[in-house]
Amino acid sequence: MEPLTPKDQELIEAAREAIRKNYDGEQYRHTVGAALRCKNGRVYLGVNVYSIHGACAEQIALGAAITGGEREFETIVAVRGQEGEEILPPCGNCRQLLWDYMPGCRVILPGENGPGKVPAAALLPCSYSVE
Ligand SMILES: [Zn+2]
Repeated sequence: MEPLTPKDQELIEAAREAIRKNYDGEQYRHTVGAALRCKNGRVYLGVNVYSIHGACAEQIALGAAITGGEREFETIVAVRGQEGEEILPPCGNCRQLLWDYMPGCRVILPGENGPGKVPAAALLPCSYSVE
C-alpha cells in the first residue's frame, strides 16, 4: 500500500467529523462517514443512509461531489463508529462504483502496519464493465 500524506490524515479526520456529527446510536441508521477529496482539493462528505437497499457513505459523498460538478477524484475514505474510529474498506457494491467512476482514485484502507492507500481499480480485479 502507498503511505498516507498529511492531506490524507485530514481526509480521515473529515470523515470522522461527518459521522461524529450524525451518528445516531441505537437507531443505527447512520454509522459510517466518508470523505472524498477531488483533484481540485475540494472535499465532499457523506454518511450512510440505512434501509434494505440503503446507500453507503461513500455513495453519498460521491453523489454530493457529482452534484457539485466534480468529475475528477483523488482520494476517498470511510470510517465507522461513533467517533469514526475504524477505517472501513469499501463493500463490494462500492468497489464496483469506485471502479466505474474513479478507477485511479486512491482508497484509504486499514492495514496490518497501519492505514495506507491503493488505487480503486486494485480493489476489484477481473471487474465487470459495460464497455
Ligand atoms: Zn458500500
